[in-house]
Amino acid sequence: MIYQNIKGKSVTNFTEIIDTVHNSIEANYSAKSAMEIALYDIFVQNLKLPLYKFLGGKKKKFKTGITISLNDTHIMIRDSVEAINRGFDSLKIKLGEDYKEEIYKVKSIYKAVGKDISLKLDANQGWSEDECIRFLNSLEKDKIPIELIEQPIEKGNIEGLKYIKERTSIPILADESVFSPKDAIEILEKQAVDFINIKLDKCGGISKALLIADICKLYGVKCMIGCMLEGSISVSAAVHVASSRNDTITMIDLDAPVLYENYPIQVGVRFNESNIEITDTCGLGIRA
Ligand SMILES: [Mg+2]
Repeated sequence: MIYQNIKGKSVTNFTEIIDTVHNSIEANYSAKSAMEIALYDIFVQNLKLPLYKFLGGKKKKFKTGITISLNDTHIMIRDSVEAINRGFDSLKIKLGEDYKEEIYKVKSIYKAVGKDISLKLDANQGWSEDECIRFLNSLEKDKIPIELIEQPIEKGNIEGLKYIKERTSIPILADESVFSPKDAIEILEKQAVDFINIKLDKCGGISKALLIADICKLYGVKCMIGCMLEGSISVSAAVHVASSRNDTITMIDLDAPVLYENYPIQVGVRFNESNIEITDTCGLGIRA
C-alpha cells in the first residue's frame, strides 16, 4: 500500500500512515479514530488475521457492564432492575449535580439491586472536591459497596482528584481528564487516580488506546475500556484492543451495541446483552 501524507510525500510503512492521520489536524479525535479503525481493518485483512491476533491478543470472551442514564430515582431503580433481569451484573450509575440527592439515589438503587451487583458511579465532572468527599463518606459510612467513582470533578483539576483519592477508600476513575497518552502520564505521575477509562473516540483510535494501556501497565494502574454512543464497528475495535491488553484493561464498559433497536452492519464481534465474543473473521469482520 502506498499513500501520500499531508506534505505529498509517499509513505509505505503502516506506522507512518497512522502518524499521518494524527499529524494532519489538531484534536478531532473521533474522526481520527474512525480513520485509524478503517486503516487497521484494511491492513489486517490483507494479513488474513483478526485484529485482536494482530495486536497480540488471545482472550475472546468478555462481560460488559451497562450504563443507567440519569433520571428520577424511581426510573433509575426500574432501569437497574431491568438491566439485572437482562443478565447484567455491573451497573454504571450516572449521577447529577446535587450530591445530596444522589446519596439517596445510590442508596435506593443499592437497596433494590442487592450486594451481588457491582455499582460504578459516574458524576461527569459535576461536583466540587468537598461535595465529592461528603458524598463518598456518606456511602462509606453506610457500607454501600461502590466499585469506583468516575470523574467526579472538573477534568483539569488533577490536584483535586488526588485530594479526593487521599480522603476516600472508594477508587477514583479518570475519564475526561485523560484524552491523550500525555494526559495519562501526567495524571499517573501525580498518582491522582486509581484507574483510567480509555475510549477510542476520546484518544484518537487504536494506536493511542494501546499506548495509554501500555503506559498504565508501566505504572501498575488498571484500565476500563469504554465507548461513547458509537456504532458497532468502533466498539468492536475497542473489544480487539481489550483482548490485546487483557492484563491492564480489566473492566469492559462497551454497552452501546445493545442499546440499538437494530443496526444494519455486521461485525466480527458478537454483542449479546452482557456477553461479548470475538469471532475469528479477518480484520474487523465488517459486513453490510
Ligand atoms: Mg464518563
